[in-house]
Order: sequence, then C-alpha cells, then structure tokens
Amino acid sequence: MGLSLSDRTAHITQAEIRVMTIECEKVGGVNLAQGVCDLGVPREVMEGTTDAIARGYNSYTRYDGLPELREAISGKLLCFNGIHADPSTEVIVSAGSTGSFYCACLALLNPGDEVILFEPFYGYHVNTLLAANAVPRYVKMRSPDWRFDPADLERAVTPRTKGIVVCTPGNPSGKVYDTQELRWVADFATKHDLFIFTDEIYEYFVYDDRAHVSPLALDDIRDRTVMISGYSKTYSITGWRIGYSVSQAKWADAIGHVNDLIYVCAPAPLQMGVAAGIGRLGPEYYASLREEFRRKRDLLCAALKDVGLTPTVSQGAYYVLADVSHLPGADSKQKAMHLLAVTGVASVPGSAFYVSETGDNLVRFCFAKKDAELEDACYRLRRL
Ligand code: PLP
Repeated sequence: MGLSLSDRTAHITQAEIRVMTIECEKVGGVNLAQGVCDLGVPREVMEGTTDAIARGYNSYTRYDGLPELREAISGKLLCFNGIHADPSTEVIVSAGSTGSFYCACLALLNPGDEVILFEPFYGYHVNTLLAANAVPRYVKMRSPDWRFDPADLERAVTPRTKGIVVCTPGNPSGKVYDTQELRWVADFATKHDLFIFTDEIYEYFVYDDRAHVSPLALDDIRDRTVMISGYSKTYSITGWRIGYSVSQAKWADAIGHVNDLIYVCAPAPLQMGVAAGIGRLGPEYYASLREEFRRKRDLLCAALKDVGLTPTVSQGAYYVLADVSHLPGADSKQKAMHLLAVTGVASVPGSAFYVSETGDNLVRFCFAKKDAELEDACYRLRRL
C-alpha cells in the first residue's frame, strides 16, 4: 500500500504570500506582500499581559476563554457592534480568528457541504473549508466598488449548500459591506436555511465616511450567524493568537468543544492582555488607528495611480488590489515577479484570490507598514 499524505493535504496549497516573501528577501526588496501589521503594541495591552503573568495567569483556561476576556468582548460587542451576547454561553475565545473559523467549520459542517464565498476571497477561508472536507462555491464581486448581483447567489446555491462566508471589511478587496448588501445575504441565507460565517478581523479599519456593520446585529439572522473576529490587527499582535467567535449557545457550545480538542485554550496571559486593552483603550485609540491607516492607504494609492497601476481604493482593511494588465507577463505571478525585479517591491499575484481568470491582471499590496518602509516602497514603485 505504501505511506502517503492524506487526500486533504493535496488540496491545500502553499500561500503565494510566503513564496513572494522568499523572493523579496532574495533581492532585498520591500515586502508589501505580507499582511503583517508591524506597528507598536499598545502599552495597556503589554502591561495587561505582564501583570497577568506575575499574578499567576499561566495555566490552562476554561475551553471558551477567561471570563475577564469574554466579558470584555461582550461589552465591546454591545458598544461597538450593537450586539447583545451572553459572555458565559455565546462567546468562544480561540487561537486567533483563524482558529475560530476552523472550529466553527468542524463544529457545523459535514464533509461535502457546500459553502459560498465571495470572489476575490481570502485564501485561508478556502483552505480551512477544504481541510474540513467542505466544498467552496464562488460568487463574483466586481471592481471598483465590489458590488455583487444577488441573482448570482441564487445561481450558486444547490441542495448541498450549508453556509456563506462574509468577510467585511474584506481581504483582499477592502470591501465594506453596506446594510443593503448584508440584507441581501441575510434574506438569501434565511430562504435557503444557511449558516452565515463572518470574518470581521478588520472591523476597526474602515475609511472615509463608511461604518462597519456586523451581520450578527441584524435581528432576524441572529440564530444562523457565527461572527468571527480577533485582536491580531487591532492591537498589532498577530503572533499572540487571540480571536473569538460569537453565536447562539447551541452552536457556541459545539464550537467550544472543538476548540478544546484542537487548541485546549488560547494563551492565558495574552487573553488577559487583550482584556486589559479592551477595558482601557478609549475611542481615541481606534479613531487614530483608522486615521493612520487611511493616510497610509492614500500614500500608496497615489503612487500606484502615478505609475498607471490603477488601484481600487480600499473602503476598509489594509490592502489594495491594483491593475497590472499593462505589465509584461502571461499571468499575475509573472507580472508580480516583473514588478519585483524592476522596482524591488513585492506584491501578491491576484490569482491567489480568484478561481476565475479575473485575478490574472491584479496584484495585492499591503499598506500596514511603518511610514519609512511605505515611503521607500512608493519611491521604488515610481521607478516603473
Ligand atoms: N481573516 C482575514 C480576512 C485576514 O486577512 C487575516 C490575516 O491576514 C486573518 C483572518 C487572520 O487573523 P488571526 O490572526 O486572528 O488568525
């Protein structure tokens, strides 16, 4: 018979981001491929963690997280998202929002269940679904404002459809879903009896006059929605692995048991650090985050416009998709490599976010960089 890898691993491809990061290192370039926010960790969050270690928060926590953090999240859900959630039964803290999504998929999906994603999509959503033996189906969003046609949702549905994923603000599109679009998704999910999985990790990164709307805040889909978010981006702690899901107790209980099985718990003192951040950081922190990233977005978009790599200006999150159709190369991989060779700026080929050929003429840039690095990247891009 011979030893072999599981069928599951055959479907899971290595992230293009990692490939481009390696290529970027080889040429000593500026890496705008990776979505790592290397701004500082707020002092309140760091102190909350070191205090917790000193006070003995070093053991396993309850499978659904420390009460201090679940209560802090519940308070934030009410103030920021307009959602009432019981911290003792409806909030599950996990290993980042990535861990939260994986637990939700394993708890709620059977092998062969189909789940609809909007294209362009975030690759981890696809790979997580594949790892859970679910089947992704795609509905197209169209630039520049990434609208979708509700009729396309009806075209994508089959008797096996069990869920739909909404990533708002979106990676890589930067799309912020408005209430009307969420209403379409809500009505569609209700009509076909589907779960709605949200990914709101960029909820604080929303620009211009837009506002973040959480699907879970729509009353009539409360029972079928699993909200997923976390603090990796908001507090620049991507390596800490603190995220959470919110859903009705019946789903949350099962998600919590899967979380226990896979991760046991999220790191105890880091949970306390995040709880301290939520409790102590006021609205001015989040407002300045938003302003800071809007400024970075504008800096990068101006440089891209100047060299004819027309960007679709992001409504939220910290990525920009840019049109590279006039660069040499047969596909987005070759175009991204050309850009790296000529300017020393690394991006992610659009094919990483599309199953259709639309991605062939796009690359994604991340603007979550320190000013000096971003300015260097803009300077280099202008060489094009
Ligand atoms: N969801 C989206 C849309 C992301 O872009 C990312 C990171 O790039 C994540 C989730 C990962 O979040 P976490 O660190 O909470 O697992």
